[in-house]
Amino acid sequence: MSGLKLVAERGQREVFCGLTGIIWLHRKIQDAFFLVVGSRTCAHLIQSAAGVMIFAEPRFATAIIDERDLAGMADMNDELDRVVTRLLERRPDIKLLFLVGSCPSEVIKLDLSRAAARLSSSFSPNVRVLNYSGSGIETTFTQGEDACLASLVPGLPPEPANAAPSLLVVGALAEVVEDQFRRLLADMGIDRVRFLPPQRAGDMPPVGPNTRVLLAQPFLAETARALEERGAVRLAAPFPLGVEGTTLWLKAAANAFGVAPARFEAVTAAAQDRARRGLARHRGLLADKRVFFFPDSQLEIPLARFLSRELSMELIEVGTPYLHRQHLDAELALLPGGTRITEGQHVDNQLDRCREAGPDIVVCGLGLANPLEAEGFTTKWSIELLFTPIQGYEQVADLAELFARPLVRRARLVA
Ligand code: SF4
Repeated sequence: MSGLKLVAERGQREVFCGLTGIIWLHRKIQDAFFLVVGSRTCAHLIQSAAGVMIFAEPRFATAIIDERDLAGMADMNDELDRVVTRLLERRPDIKLLFLVGSCPSEVIKLDLSRAAARLSSSFSPNVRVLNYSGSGIETTFTQGEDACLASLVPGLPPEPANAAPSLLVVGALAEVVEDQFRRLLADMGIDRVRFLPPQRAGDMPPVGPNTRVLLAQPFLAETARALEERGAVRLAAPFPLGVEGTTLWLKAAANAFGVAPARFEAVTAAAQDRARRGLARHRGLLADKRVFFFPDSQLEIPLARFLSRELSMELIEVGTPYLHRQHLDAELALLPGGTRITEGQHVDNQLDRCREAGPDIVVCGLGLANPLEAEGFTTKWSIELLFTPIQGYEQVADLAELFARPLVRRARLVA
């Protein structure tokens, strides 16, 4: 980590809350349902973040806490039981129900873990009910996924101590990305590979001392800790963004499973080559462009590493809401010396620094993007990086394009 300028900032934040994660998680675990226990604001946030995705049978909803509940005039637990019973009677396809806490449920100190245990015993074995918090008091944006996955860990089946080693890839990935990784790993001879979250509630991966964990996302501190408590061993690696990140990530698995270097090379060479050629199309436009990251998704550091090392972009500041030193160690080692990393946020000070630096592109949350665009900055919404498949070799060019597109659009507007 030598030569990096690490600065911690405290102040007003402009970051989404953890409820946002429901937008990609509900598509991932296909028989799960997310019931937010929150206010109309929470319902509105999810609806607008979900945008145009309208489902005939949606897999998330909000149980609204109204004034009577807030004033303690109604028993929220009775109401919650009624809402859940109605939902599960109407929707036998739901096998896993998450009660998702919010700011209002925390303010009235509604004990969702007790509610989840009570409801789980009523609806077992057909439905499991779990809970986690997505509130803006406790979580930012991607920490919602961490809290959700961490809530699954205690219920994962145990893997016997004498089981053959298996690989557990942790973090929601697009199906197409999972398939590509599964194929590459199988070609190397690693075929005991499982994913968390699984696509179906009935396919929860077993975990035990012979489980090797490869994090696919950099924001899974709690989940990793819970898996380690179950005996699993985390493999240290950068994250699978860009050719370099993907290669080192796969290499960490290959080394742990004793894959010979020649075999690793033979399996990955063609995909690496294709990905490098895909990147070349964007390098002309992106090289030497100056980028400023506001803290939002916790993907900032791996993205900064990719943009600087594979596309020769210049990093002005890399903001991250939270910096997990251990999980990001391999990433930090790859950043150019002198990179300023800001952990936490004082949004006004950061905006001042951004304006003064005048970057070519700003990566930030939706709340900051519109005002910055109005001031003439080119922005990239970090939320798009969660909705778009960006991990792995076949997605490298798409990832670069996500940064090239706003620059092309701005150039057209100016022309
Ligand atoms: Fe707002 Fe809190 Fe609800 Fe998130 S959980 S939408 S921050 S009230």
